[in-house]
Amino acid sequence: MARRNLITGGAGFLGSHLVDRLMEADEEVICLDNYYTGRKENIRQWLGHPNFELIRHDVTDPIRLEVDRIWHLACPASPVHYQFNPIKTAKTSFLGTYNMLGLARRVGARLLLASTSEVYGDPEVHPQPESYRGCVNTIGIRSCYDEGKRIAETLCFDYQRMHSTEIRVMRIFNTYGPRMLPDDGRVVSNFIVQALQGHPLTLYGDGSQTRSFCYVDDLIEGMIRLMNGDHTGPINIGNPGEFTIRQLAERVRDRIQPDLALTTQPLPQDDPLQRQPVIDLARDVLGWEPKVSLEEGLEPTIAYFRERLQAGR
Ligand code: NAD
Ligand code: UDP
Repeated sequence: MARRNLITGGAGFLGSHLVDRLMEADEEVICLDNYYTGRKENIRQWLGHPNFELIRHDVTDPIRLEVDRIWHLACPASPVHYQFNPIKTAKTSFLGTYNMLGLARRVGARLLLASTSEVYGDPEVHPQPESYRGCVNTIGIRSCYDEGKRIAETLCFDYQRMHSTEIRVMRIFNTYGPRMLPDDGRVVSNFIVQALQGHPLTLYGDGSQTRSFCYVDDLIEGMIRLMNGDHTGPINIGNPGEFTIRQLAERVRDRIQPDLALTTQPLPQDDPLQRQPVIDLARDVLGWEPKVSLEEGLEPTIAYFRERLQAGR
């Protein structure tokens, strides 16, 4: 019998790519989303397929379903969206994960939590291994998300200890690719959309802060290996290639419209200075490492946004 997968946040950026991979593997998929930052367009190709179901639901409310695996991705990921209603974001992380763990426990499903490099906050250890415990400002504007994910991880391990619930905890580092929203607010989509529209690219601060960018296909491969394997986590999944935000802006601009200006805007509060994953554990236990370089990944991402902007969608 085909495996029954619940993907929360399945209409979002990462979730919809995961839907594609599982549907292409002939598994059954229930996609659950409240469409806060997700779009039906992302999963339209599967509507009507006998293996596919779509449920509009908010994970802060419990739900009863019969499933074998829960891929728990529901949560806005862009600072612009998660800071729009920070109390809701904290509820989504805490109550959403609590409800999904309750479901996993009830039906004996395995749950994978999409956690984040943000659990490391503004790190004093660089690059960041899983053993680093992080430096998060508990009262800052990012903490609804950062602390939300930290308590979500805590809940996973307490369900494992108390109820033997099968958990997998994945710490995702900045990931980009087709299906990000043009107004998502994250840096890769912002720069591409600005360049395609002929606008200056907005560096927050002086652009010397760093991030490490993983292409979506690599990320989803790591996610599937983690779910299928025996390692509980937490485990870093990301691309160790580290760039300053200014370097990213220059690369995007040079590929699209080299004469565009870079402008500066104030650096948001608590914006981490540097971020790079140590992925030795993923290499060891999952046999995983990213394959797509930033240059290679920017190409399909730019093509996606070009088409979307031309079509006015
Ligand atoms: P996204 O915003 O595109 O997707 C999130 C999805 O969850 C959307 O479809 C949204 O509508 C849905 N959602 C939000 N709140 C919900 C709720 N209360 N109930 C039901 N659905 C809800 O973001 P993404 O980049 O695809 O991120 C997916 C997951 O991966 C998130 O949990 C995020 O924290 C995590 N993550 C992503 C990245 C990244 O770089 N993309 C990095 C670290 C962690
Ligand atoms: N950033 C920027 N210009 C933008 C959007 C973001 O310079 O238009 C910066 C932001 O300040 C941060 C980095 O890019 O230092 C990554 O931001 P993003 O929101 O993509 O992810 P996160 O900060 O959550 O890693």
